[in-house]
Amino acid sequence: MPRQAYVNGRYQPHKEAAVHIEDRGYQFADGVYEVVPVHDGILVDEDLHLDRLDRSLSELRIGAPMSRASLKLISRELMRRNGLSNGFLYMQVTRGVAPRDHKFPKGAKPALVMTTRQMKPHSEKVLAEGLKVITLPDQRWDRCDIKSVSLLPNVLGKQAADDAGAYEAWQVDKKGMVTEGTSTNAWIVTGDGKVVTREATNAILNGITRISLLELIRKEGYDLEERAFSVEEAKGAREAFLTSSTSFVLPITQIDGQPVGNGHPGILTGKLRQHYIDYVKSLRKTA
Ligand code: PLP
Repeated sequence: MPRQAYVNGRYQPHKEAAVHIEDRGYQFADGVYEVVPVHDGILVDEDLHLDRLDRSLSELRIGAPMSRASLKLISRELMRRNGLSNGFLYMQVTRGVAPRDHKFPKGAKPALVMTTRQMKPHSEKVLAEGLKVITLPDQRWDRCDIKSVSLLPNVLGKQAADDAGAYEAWQVDKKGMVTEGTSTNAWIVTGDGKVVTREATNAILNGITRISLLELIRKEGYDLEERAFSVEEAKGAREAFLTSSTSFVLPITQIDGQPVGNGHPGILTGKLRQHYIDYVKSLRKTA
């Protein structure tokens, strides 16, 4: 059966699925989204993702498109139809369809789209060699804590990284401190073994992978600091890595062309990746 998408109440062939030209997501980027990783058929941290979706919606005063139970049912039905075992579920909610006008439309119904994508495991090469990142000024707005579909600076940043032969761009605030990647959270390990990641404020998206990894780090008893770090500190760090729903934990071995630590993926990074993978696998037993 061809891949399907869920669009406002209907399952449709993915290839033909479309929203109205006056959907406010299309015209104003007036909407939010979630990417929920799927591992061996299990939606990883589903409730944390749905909590963040609720929060993003309420910060923008967009209504919930339906109950959480219904969202979960549709997620599973779409996964079933698409035979999704490993990859991710994408869900997007916009303020709905209305004649173009900046103000919130009266009576518009939130629009919901869901898609799935199968993904291969991360390549051995990436795990063995690590990733390159570049740094660039953070040009985004002041509410990066909202998972909005308004991603133009992130798109431009990711393209700049790709143009430079890198995987990701670490965005840097006006004080020279790293905020986060364009689609990932940023982490370093200091020379004395402390894991450091920026505290969750409106300057970053509080990644669900970040939240779960922080819990694992605390549980395992590693030294941890939630604070901002500068580009200089990152370049002088022992290790660096990134996290996201589709990356899990991936090592970084170069920042702006300079090797991080000894230029190889960090040992602690490898351990944290393994802890995270073990955590994801453990969800299977409780699902
Ligand atoms: N930061 C940004 C800007 C993102 O877009 C994302 C994911 O899309 C993340 C961080 C990582 O968040 P998560 O771990 O929930 O995927």
